[in-house]
Amino acid sequence: MKKIAVIGEILVEIMADRPGLGFFEPLALTGPYPSGAPAIFIDQVARLGQPCGIVSSVGHDDFGQINLSRLQADGVDVSAVSIDPARPTGSAFVRYREDGARDFIFNIEHAACGRITLTPQAEHLFQKADHLHVMGSSLSSDRLVEINLAAAETIKARGGTLSFDPNLRKEMLSRQEMRAAMQRILGMTDLFLPSGEELTLLTEAARDQDALAELLGQGVRAIVHKQGAKGAEYHDADGSVRAPAFPVEEIDPTGAGDCFGATFTTHWLRGTDPERALRLAAAAGALAVGKRGPMEGTSDGETIEAFIKHHEGDV
Ligand code: ADP
Repeated sequence: MKKIAVIGEILVEIMADRPGLGFFEPLALTGPYPSGAPAIFIDQVARLGQPCGIVSSVGHDDFGQINLSRLQADGVDVSAVSIDPARPTGSAFVRYREDGARDFIFNIEHAACGRITLTPQAEHLFQKADHLHVMGSSLSSDRLVEINLAAAETIKARGGTLSFDPNLRKEMLSRQEMRAAMQRILGMTDLFLPSGEELTLLTEAARDQDALAELLGQGVRAIVHKQGAKGAEYHDADGSVRAPAFPVEEIDPTGAGDCFGATFTTHWLRGTDPERALRLAAAAGALAVGKRGPMEGTSDGETIEAFIKHHEGDV
């Protein structure tokens, strides 16, 4: 089975226990929950039984241990997660507004995950990996860009593949070097997983159709365009497939895109046909939005199958 590697932040998330409250008010908080987009992604991959590992850094503290224990228990290779004695594990405070929008206060830059380096353990993981998943959020510093590019070159030189979820925050694109880094990664991408307007943002195109043609023309083999509760679309040189989202109550949307992306990528690597891979991924995304806590919504293959069976006929 192909081994998937990812690089990026491991955090704990602590959230307001109900929507509509500001950080200025005395809040009841819930957590800490294991989090970080790359960590959620790789945990979902592991829960599907696919070999995988993460390159990251946590502090020598309980928040780091919560994450390491969870990832390890679910089957993620954490040998390339370094323990930084000088910095705490990253954290994020989250509150939800009544309309579902979220506000975050992040502690990443000065935390352990803000200092991820290319260690011998990381290089060893890249030597063993067949596929690299790149998260836009983990291209936030020159050092992280270098590590992602080094991994991409090592893995692709051995005939491996690369998937890319831009996971963009608008402020990232205003930095010219960040845009250039994303475009370099896009130039090496086999499977592209943009969400909403991210499809056009890294291209010259103004319309989705033109962006798809441009990306497929420049060597991207497959594109999965995520559209939240509206579902997702798959495109390759042979055509397109659409999968609606499952109608579920949204409890906590954090992590849905990562669970969806991880499930699609794993099945893409296994050679599952795109229509079925999309349906499995949509189920993983729906299961994720139905659970509070970013990594609490990852699911194993059996749970995903049972969910689809239960919702047969709904979509
Ligand atoms: P991202 O978080 O990367 O922006 P999306 O929000 O588009 O990704 O979510 C990815 C997928 O997860 C969607 O295509 C859909 O299948 C599923 N999903 C997301 N939000 C919901 C929701 N509220 N209800 C049901 N499924 C959802």
